[in-house]
Amino acid sequence: MEQGKRAVIIGAGPAGLTAAFELLTRTRIEPVVLEKCDYMGGISRTVNYKGNRIDIGGHRFFSKSDRVMQWWLKILPMQAVDGEHTEITYQRQTTRVAAHPEPSDPEREDRVMLVRNRKSRIYFMRQFFEYPITLSGDTLKKLGLWKTVKIGLSYIRSVLFPIKPETNLEQFFINRFGRELYLTFFKSYTEKVWGIECSQISAEWGAQRIKGLSIWKTLTHILKKMLPKKKGDIAQKDVETSLIERFLYPKYGPGQMWEEVAEKVKSRGAEILTHWNVETIEHSPSQTGRKVTAVVARNEQTGETRRFTGDYFFSTMPVKELVADLEPPAPPAVREVSDGLMYRDFITVGILCERIKLRDSSGKLVEDNWIYIQEPDVLVGRLQIFNNWSPFLVAEPGKVWIGLEYFCNDTDALWHKSEAEMIALAKAELASMNILDPQDVEDATVIHMPKTYPAYFGTYDRFPQVISWMNEFDNLFLVGRNGMHKYNNQDHSMLTAMTAVDNIIDGVRSRDNLWALNTEQEYHEEKREEKPIEEREEVSVG
Ligand SMILES: Cc1cc2nc3c(=O)[nH]c(=O)nc-3n(C[C@H](O)[C@H](O)[C@H](O)COP(=O)(O)OP(=O)(O)OC[C@H]3O[C@@H](n4cnc5c(N)ncnc54)[C@H](O)[C@@H]3O)c2cc1C
Repeated sequence: MEQGKRAVIIGAGPAGLTAAFELLTRTRIEPVVLEKCDYMGGISRTVNYKGNRIDIGGHRFFSKSDRVMQWWLKILPMQAVDGEHTEITYQRQTTRVAAHPEPSDPEREDRVMLVRNRKSRIYFMRQFFEYPITLSGDTLKKLGLWKTVKIGLSYIRSVLFPIKPETNLEQFFINRFGRELYLTFFKSYTEKVWGIECSQISAEWGAQRIKGLSIWKTLTHILKKMLPKKKGDIAQKDVETSLIERFLYPKYGPGQMWEEVAEKVKSRGAEILTHWNVETIEHSPSQTGRKVTAVVARNEQTGETRRFTGDYFFSTMPVKELVADLEPPAPPAVREVSDGLMYRDFITVGILCERIKLRDSSGKLVEDNWIYIQEPDVLVGRLQIFNNWSPFLVAEPGKVWIGLEYFCNDTDALWHKSEAEMIALAKAELASMNILDPQDVEDATVIHMPKTYPAYFGTYDRFPQVISWMNEFDNLFLVGRNGMHKYNNQDHSMLTAMTAVDNIIDGVRSRDNLWALNTEQEYHEEKREEKPIEEREEVSVG
């Protein structure tokens, strides 16, 4: 079956490489992957800077899908922990993972998936707040009596007099949390991530990503915790096991996973061609709609162009660019919507230093993996402490390796700052927040990554027009994050690729099951259990 057929895959990120791997292991279709850059993993790459490794924003590996969890652990065996089974709990969802028959010891082996404790907090008013934010005595003490009273009163006001109609994200937040809590913990970070005021983001985004959260749920949660514990109470046991959240993380960062997958793809005889930028997608009518006949790619190093024909095409390139590159062109109405899709770009500054001032009570480096910076007087949005993701990311033991995350548009002045200017800004902001003394900085690097966040504004509300026109292609599969203009994490991006291959194998023509991924999973999860307040941040961060 399918012998001699070829699939052309655009992009060697998680979705493209998963598609290639699935085709090679489950079909006889031969994939060829075209990647415009010289690295594997796309946004999930890891940059190696003089032996210090840095992610494009820390990438935790956790999925509600067993299929994805098992897939990852087949590529990189899990380190030996907890005997026969290991429980990985994240966002109050627990997955039991069977120990590998030959578990790896990260001290001796490189191909290993670490099990890491998750800790993250909010940095606001130059101090730490628990994350997820809880109305604990500690929080209230730090906020002060006056602020606490204001939060309470403004919440009561929102309950009694909700804003109607609720059209934008600001109104959405205020109606659920009150203006004061919104201003304190939601506004600054959300606006840093998206670059526009919450009042200009559709309330629909909140409804999709932050559904069902309320202070009442937080209070109920606190009350439940205060109730006496019954012996053998299974629910209580669940709470206890979920107290320590853990995720998987490759010893050398997410890029290690995707370099490993790329090696497996190549060792099975498939080609991954780097520096090939797909610029034209040729198509023609078919009996049932239309089909892609070939893509034309240009080599970024030599300028050479090549035409790649195929039977199937998988695209992980931004859908906006894909539609613009179609030949013959897409209808003006479709083009108008896709041209109006927007993105958020991303800069990370890696800083290697002797020490930072964030220490716990015993004087040791804090254990946070990442810290949300809620301070409105700085541009940095999030801080990663890479030592706490994997100690193996840091070349020299004893040094501290951190990453500052800046969300921006490629048209902003920030995007065009020189490396020296960006490093100076990062150091000044860290100093102003009392996180680091600039004299302790030994080295630094700056990484730009365009189109990290597909935005749910611009023409996004009319995106279904693009989807339905693209669904008429018989042999083209839009998969992944920017490939579908969807807020997909690695696991969702992979699942779209896996499902596309399932559809080829099963002869399923409809693309509905691809577009339903992520959305439906979230939906089922919400029906099954109450979502904790922290998810408002998780989802807005990506
Ligand atoms: C700050 C941040 C933090 C994140 N944290 C997590 C996390 O903790 N856990 C998690 O699971 N996910 C996380 N993600 C999401 C994760 O990065 C993405 O889901 C994943 O990388 C998407 O995979 P993809 O293959 O669809 O796309 P990409 O990673 O974007 O890969 C697409 C590839 O296609 C190539 N390409 C594009 N255009 C062309 C063209 N014309 N021709 C040839 N090649 C082309 C690109 O160079 C790229 O290599 C995070 C994302 C961000 C931005």
